[in-house]
Amino acid sequence: MKLIIASNNEHKVKEIKEILGSFFTDISTLKEAGVDIDVVEDGETFEQNAIKKATEVLAACPDFDAVLADDSGLSVDALGGAPGVFSARYAGDEHDTAANNKKLMLEMQNVPDGKRGARFLCCIALARHHKDSLCVLGSCEGEILHSARGQNGFGYDPYFFYPPLQKSFAELSAKEKNDVSHRHNALMLLKTELENECENWSLF
Ligand code: IMP
Repeated sequence: MKLIIASNNEHKVKEIKEILGSFFTDISTLKEAGVDIDVVEDGETFEQNAIKKATEVLAACPDFDAVLADDSGLSVDALGGAPGVFSARYAGDEHDTAANNKKLMLEMQNVPDGKRGARFLCCIALARHHKDSLCVLGSCEGEILHSARGQNGFGYDPYFFYPPLQKSFAELSAKEKNDVSHRHNALMLLKTELENECENWSLF
């Protein structure tokens, strides 16, 4: 079974291969498969974006059995779920992490402790030629800090406090974060769905 991961991010690819490797004989990134496609992520939800990406890439890759695509971001309770699907471009189209985090701090400056709940969300879609797409949503609950903590990770990690470990995501090692992240949780949900299908001999 040949799978394309609709990403060239090597960290995502490694994690996906580790968790889902046993279901596919051949796993390629877009680049490895020689596919140059730019899917516009204009959905209103993470689910819409992930399914759109997976199905558009699958349509462009008839020789592959399945395409896996993800869409993720931060959802803050006090901001009505923002930045949500706009996480990568919260401060505007410049896609600048520092500007996004600055805007987050500005929007949250008057929000008191106890009302700073947030979660990272990750939707993963698996599109197949002859079966319905699978779509799962993983999450990781936390709180928005008042200022940055830690040097690791990327994006909103320095401002996302993870209560079970009493650290921000940017204070966790890559392994610590990968063990609890929204992406990891989504991949484990997808693994369970694939295992259930395998029991019924109906993967593709
Ligand atoms: P993507 O869909 O994985 O490309 O994520 C979109 C945006 O959400 C990123 O550009 C980040 O701003 C934010 N984001 C997603 N996952 C994380 C994470 O694990 N840590 C910090 N920011 C994240």
